[in-house]
Amino acid sequence: MHELGLLRSVVKAVEAAADAAGATAVEGVGLRVGQLSGAVPEALKGAWPIATAGTKLAGAALEVEEVGAAIWCAACATEQPVDQFYGLRCPACDAPCGNLIRGREFEVVFADVPD
Ligand SMILES: [Zn+2]
Repeated sequence: MHELGLLRSVVKAVEAAADAAGATAVEGVGLRVGQLSGAVPEALKGAWPIATAGTKLAGAALEVEEVGAAIWCAACATEQPVDQFYGLRCPACDAPCGNLIRGREFEVVFADVPD
């Protein structure tokens, strides 16, 4: 499962941060996941208990914030939402557009440690 590999990197990074902060556990982790990042939020949530088992993140809650994809269309001079089913074309004027400004995020937004 692709998501499991992504989560293992997240767990590694968060554990390193928790170690640096002297925390013995992590209670919750927030991820920002773009619509075109290639990661499926439901699959991330499903793989989370497996990825965190035996780590400082075991039992931590996972929060996934989904980010819709958008391009900047030079022809319309405006931001337009896009999705992977139609490719990177402006939905308003149909111009091909590679100028993705949002949607490929895969990043840790927060990690909560107990006080
Ligand atoms: Zn356009």
